[in-house]
Amino acid sequence: MVGPKNNGIAGAAAPSRGRFTNTGNGPTFQIIDIDHPEYMAVIDPDTAFWSLVRREKLANVLSGDLPKAYAKKTKQFAVEMNGLRFGLTPSAVYFNPTERCNMNCTYCYIPEKMRREGEHMPVEKLLAALEILKQYFRKSMPKGSMPQIIFHGAEPLLNRDAVFTGIEEYKNDFLFGIQTNATLLDDAAVEFLTSHHVSIGLSLDAPTAKIADRTRKNWDGQGAFKQVTSAMRRLNGYEGWSIICTITSANLRHLTGLVDFFHEQEVPTCLMNILRCTLSPSRSLKPGDTEAAKYFLSALDRTYELYQQTGRRLPVGNFANILLAIIAPAARRLMCDISPCGGGRCFFALAPNGDMFPCSEFIGLDRFRAGNLFTDDISAVHESEPFRLVTGRKVENIEPCRRCAIRHFCGSPCPAEAYEMNGDMNKTGAFCEFYEEQVRYAFRIIADGKVDAYLWDDWDKGMKNTFNIVGG
Ligand code: SF4
Ligand code: SF4
Repeated sequence: MVGPKNNGIAGAAAPSRGRFTNTGNGPTFQIIDIDHPEYMAVIDPDTAFWSLVRREKLANVLSGDLPKAYAKKTKQFAVEMNGLRFGLTPSAVYFNPTERCNMNCTYCYIPEKMRREGEHMPVEKLLAALEILKQYFRKSMPKGSMPQIIFHGAEPLLNRDAVFTGIEEYKNDFLFGIQTNATLLDDAAVEFLTSHHVSIGLSLDAPTAKIADRTRKNWDGQGAFKQVTSAMRRLNGYEGWSIICTITSANLRHLTGLVDFFHEQEVPTCLMNILRCTLSPSRSLKPGDTEAAKYFLSALDRTYELYQQTGRRLPVGNFANILLAIIAPAARRLMCDISPCGGGRCFFALAPNGDMFPCSEFIGLDRFRAGNLFTDDISAVHESEPFRLVTGRKVENIEPCRRCAIRHFCGSPCPAEAYEMNGDMNKTGAFCEFYEEQVRYAFRIIADGKVDAYLWDDWDKGMKNTFNIVGG
């Protein structure tokens, strides 16, 4: 048998005009069951264009209203998505002013030896680092915008004098934040930080000492619950504070109670982050996806109930961010659920000796040390191989994410986990179904018109949303 031959007819192939859904250059729509009685979600995975469609009107997906709406908006969606994924430049630094910590939390991403015996960054070095960063951001960021410095773990307040001197001297150059285990947050520290408008993040995993102290304890095994709750009382009334809870198998069943506790204590906003499984000790606390989703979504339900009862919101920042990824992608505040993630692209992490890493999650992984702030050019470090490994990790190259309709709402976090736990950047991290369930939940609350209850007051300040409900 002889196959078809080139018969010599010249001319370019005629491109498809994109008239038909799911063929040629037409829109590609994937239909997602969001477990809602009336609506299904329809998504173009490449641009993250989406629509909620009444179940009985799904035929509109193939012809009619939806392709028309898509044709009108596709360019805007594609430009916005491309800008978010590839057009952002660094505007923040996670600054570790010490390697040491007075706590020994089970899931910490900083190696134990470093936390026990590590070094503080001397005050002169800390000031020199801030000066270098100031000059760098002055050139790289638009005039009038302020870069952020977040003093981060180990425990920054162990090097308190240096940190406070830095904040005092550079208060006009950076927006400062601090993430602390709260054990050293005394009245004087609260007074200094609040009067300098520093954002303060505490860590607490459960509403009772019995559960919270299982994972967050000092080197002698004493938990921090009491100290954290007294710091919460000191911060009551200050707008710029929040709490991070890490979801593990040890506190999973207490998330709803934690929401009640946070609401009662008037916590302005919180994060309930699923455990990162980058280092092996933390993997002993890894919850299953199904269980994690069940309890996390119940906790979100509770924030809604409390809002209805009291009129006061408790936004859970990491979920709010997924919601924003769907309704107003440019309003996202966190950068774990976009691909490439924000590590090495929107921010980077600085170790106490000046070594630079794409994200704090990589501190302790020598392979990702990319240069030193005091000896290397920051822009060159951003082009280095360790940074490129992270900034070049795209959902399109990860199985099964490349086929997943919600890949631009999930982002397939986290590269550090993928590399350390699953052996390759182009693998998924520790969780997948947990994110699937969150995105389905987000679509359900959009369908039910409950979005505002889950977001911050000013989430839409200056933002255009991309709401699109067909057949509603
Ligand atoms: S996904 Fe991981 S590496 Fe990326 S920003 Fe989040 S924690 Fe950092
Ligand atoms: S991790 Fe799972 S939910 Fe997230 S993009 Fe990949 S396949 Fe989709």
